[in-house]
Amino acid sequence: MPELPDVRAFMGYLQSTALHKKIVHTSVDEAVLRKGTSLQAVARAATGHSMEEAQAHGKHLFVKTGRKWLVFHFGMTGHFDYYECQPEDEDHTHADFELENGYHLAYVAPRRLGFVDVTDDVAGYIEKEGLGEDALRISRDRFVELMQNRRGMLKSALTNQAVVAGVGNVYADEILFQAGLHPKSAVKALGTDALRKLHTTMQHVLREAADRQADPSSFPDSWLTPRREDGAACPSCSGTIRRITVNGRGTYVCPSCQSEFS
Ligand SMILES: [Zn+2]
Repeated sequence: MPELPDVRAFMGYLQSTALHKKIVHTSVDEAVLRKGTSLQAVARAATGHSMEEAQAHGKHLFVKTGRKWLVFHFGMTGHFDYYECQPEDEDHTHADFELENGYHLAYVAPRRLGFVDVTDDVAGYIEKEGLGEDALRISRDRFVELMQNRRGMLKSALTNQAVVAGVGNVYADEILFQAGLHPKSAVKALGTDALRKLHTTMQHVLREAADRQADPSSFPDSWLTPRREDGAACPSCSGTIRRITVNGRGTYVCPSCQSEFS
């Protein structure tokens, strides 16, 4: 599922392909339109304008077209495809912006859980969605303050988009592995120092992953993500990676490297 690093990579892709080119035709499938918006509203916001700038907030991407912003959420498997003649996956191209240079920017989503929407107020949209601050922009003090007020398990708090936006199942595991913290730890049991270190690790992991286009095959050998498999060798000790379940989500841990606080 696209998380913050993936969405940053999609933003970079859009910026290096479709930016500043006038949109001459817009098509969007009903299935990916956010409830409350319409094809007409998206087309009116897009056609005749250029994609002028892009801003990511957690797992959401906002793209400015004239006075409006297109909103993209990538669900489980969504991404963009910039193409000239033939989209890479026509069956799953659910939105298509034809540009004046003859190319198209397609929103592709094999599992239609993402959406396309339109807004004229990015800050208001983020607030209405109940999203916390972006995980790469949140300050250390604010992160510590928010986490200190949470109950329950550490991984649940870290992946709660209302606390901090952008961390999902895969990167939460990576962050907690690198921080040496067990995902089932009680948030309440962590002191201020541990939460400060967690903030540093979170931003380090997300930035490094975004810089590597969120491609696990390019991640450092010391990372967990390329070894998300029960029984895999821990990249840091002689132990073994285990698959456990945390709040119903498959979670990978090294029981030797990651301490559980309760
Ligand atoms: Zn280990």
